[in-house]
Amino acid sequence: MNASMSSSLVLRDRFGRQITYLRISVTDRCNLRCVYCMPPEGVPHIGHDDVLRYEEILQVVELAARYGVREVRLTGGEPLVRTDLPELVRMIAAVPGIEDISLTTNGLLLDRLAEPLAQAGLKRINVSLDTLRPERFTKITRGGSFERTWAGILKAEALGLKPIKLNVVMMRGVNDDELADMALLTLDRDWHVRFIELMPIQNQAVWGDGLPLPEETYLPIAEMVARLEPLGLEACGHEEVGSGPAQEYRLRGARGKVGFISPVSEPFCEQCNRLRLTADGNLRPCLLHNIEVPIRDALRRGEDLLPYLQQAITLKPLAHELEQQHSPSGRCMRQIGG
Ligand code: SAM
Ligand code: SF4
Repeated sequence: MNASMSSSLVLRDRFGRQITYLRISVTDRCNLRCVYCMPPEGVPHIGHDDVLRYEEILQVVELAARYGVREVRLTGGEPLVRTDLPELVRMIAAVPGIEDISLTTNGLLLDRLAEPLAQAGLKRINVSLDTLRPERFTKITRGGSFERTWAGILKAEALGLKPIKLNVVMMRGVNDDELADMALLTLDRDWHVRFIELMPIQNQAVWGDGLPLPEETYLPIAEMVARLEPLGLEACGHEEVGSGPAQEYRLRGARGKVGFISPVSEPFCEQCNRLRLTADGNLRPCLLHNIEVPIRDALRRGEDLLPYLQQAITLKPLAHELEQQHSPSGRCMRQIGG
């Protein structure tokens, strides 16, 4: 086994990367069907009994926290469709060592849930929002309501879940005409608008509804940056907690920030500190590799999970291979937990 467990109890992989961040998919279910995230016909759901219960997720978090994991993000599917999510947040917030709990959501249910989540100890949220145009929003999400997501964002902001981060998957011919409008949201709001390159993961079937072919929509970060230069982009580093792999900038005079996440054109694998837990109980060391270590049965047998954690970290690959056009087969983003 190559993953080293030093006396200071940290998880380090074969390439010296310390694992401090656990990304937990709490469900593979979703109330939307975004074109880039899942095939149009949908995907079968995990059976109810196969989804990890909150007590089981907690056991994994407690173990990971003992070995240096400090940051937890809840994702999915859509995490807010899982019953009583604030209870899980409360449980994780009480784990010694966990310093930061955040959530990635499509925001549809945030208007109702932001308050109990904040009371339970949630620190901040990322909301996925690819457009400011209601009709386009419905098209990209195959049925979602822009107004509901927007109301959810405002509610979260009012409750102090800051900084509000918006995740924008930028796609040529789909929403790239809104690049500047999205960036300009940061002028008078202290939000972080983060532009993400489209990853080719189980989403290459024709999107339809007047949208371009998926293979024509990839837009590299370098082009996004060049197109925003006239607005006065100033680099501002990674000074805040949870900036993750985003390269951050500020528009001239802006309160908020603009970030760029480039998994395809400039992968950030060398600094990757992440481990994922899928909703059905597999440890997944890389978003874009189909390597997984199943732990659900071991959990339910009451086994020591440390060897499984070590194995997952040992298997963490040095880099993903998207740049070589190897689209990982198997799960779509909704099933992995993006
Ligand atoms: N349902 C939640 C949401 O939409 O925020 C959480 C899960 S979603 C899979 C997590 C993030 O992955 C979202 O910000 C979404 O935009 C992003 N995502 C999904 N498919 C993607 C793809 N093919 N390329 C890039 N980002 C993707
Ligand atoms: Fe659902 Fe999020 Fe995927 Fe959209 S991106 S289909 S909201 S999991």
